[in-house]
Amino acid sequence: ADPVPIDADFLAAGILNGDRKTLAQAITLVESGAKRHFDAAQLLLEKVITKRTPSVRIGITGVPGAGKSTFIDTFGMFLCSRGHKVAVLAVDPTSHVSKGSILGDKTRMERLSVHPSAFIRPTPSSGTLGGVSRKTRETMLLCEAAGFDVILIETMGVGQGEFLVRGMVDFFLLLVLTGAGDELQTMKKGIMELPDLVVVNKADGDNLPAARKAVQEYNTMLHFLKPYTEGWTTKAAAASALQETGIEEIWSSVAAFRNHTKESGLFESRRRLQHKEWLHESIKTELLHAFYENPEVDRQLKKAEQDIAEERAPVSALVKELVDTFLNNKN
Ligand code: GDP
Repeated sequence: ADPVPIDADFLAAGILNGDRKTLAQAITLVESGAKRHFDAAQLLLEKVITKRTPSVRIGITGVPGAGKSTFIDTFGMFLCSRGHKVAVLAVDPTSHVSKGSILGDKTRMERLSVHPSAFIRPTPSSGTLGGVSRKTRETMLLCEAAGFDVILIETMGVGQGEFLVRGMVDFFLLLVLTGAGDELQTMKKGIMELPDLVVVNKADGDNLPAARKAVQEYNTMLHFLKPYTEGWTTKAAAASALQETGIEEIWSSVAAFRNHTKESGLFESRRRLQHKEWLHESIKTELLHAFYENPEVDRQLKKAEQDIAEERAPVSALVKELVDTFLNNKN
């Protein structure tokens, strides 16, 4: 028997009931690359897409050791205590399956993983950028249908993940440590231009003065950068995920951001734009796939590659021929 339930009605009912086990099964279904799961997954999404809880989607990034999982545990617990339902997803497009489990691991969020108002998806999405993007977006929709109103998406601040995640969330939070200079060396170029809030974590104990200094340094640096979100000033703040300080201020910042962008219309327009980009990304992925899978194209492509290698024909003419072949041999 198929280990993945494919009864869309059954799954939709469970999800809309907020059942976490069914939600987990449904995510497995949409994550599956198997052809026999595709129709059921799409049917399921159709059934739940208009029944979602309004949410705020927050991306969280930071180099390994910055305290992401500790922070998500603390922040998530804080949100649950305020009556929110929190879903935690992880995105790691660069990692191979074996390395993947370092993100979004349940055991790393000990308290949150057993909280009845939380849902943690322990297996991170890995694979191609396009595949990860689709899976994560569809998973988000399912979580919202299950009543989760705060979606936290964790990614590592070292690869392509943070750029991908930035394009699918409302608010982006960069978790950093003290010593801004050193740390920026290990972070991907351009990452400082992405966040709506920079949190200097581990502002506790002996580290407190250094953390305060880092907040000032980051604020100075941010002052010279164009904020990612128009009309919003990205600032740095200190927090301790371990001592649970500065957490309420972070949520206040998210709330202020949401109020501000909802009033200006940017919240909705950003989501609309993200959905449009998703559509276009998916079209490109689908078309490329269909093109390279097409047997007529495949045959002609081998010849074209040779022609090009030996410089017997111009590229543009070959491309036009190939595309025409594709268009005339669709099934
Ligand atoms: P991640 O790799 O970004 O997920 O980081 P972890 O959450 O695994 O944290 C890395 C280490 O930093 C662990 O040993 C944590 O206990 C520690 N840590 C995380 N947050 C804090 C904090 O606020 N203060 C202190 N002192 N240590 C922290």
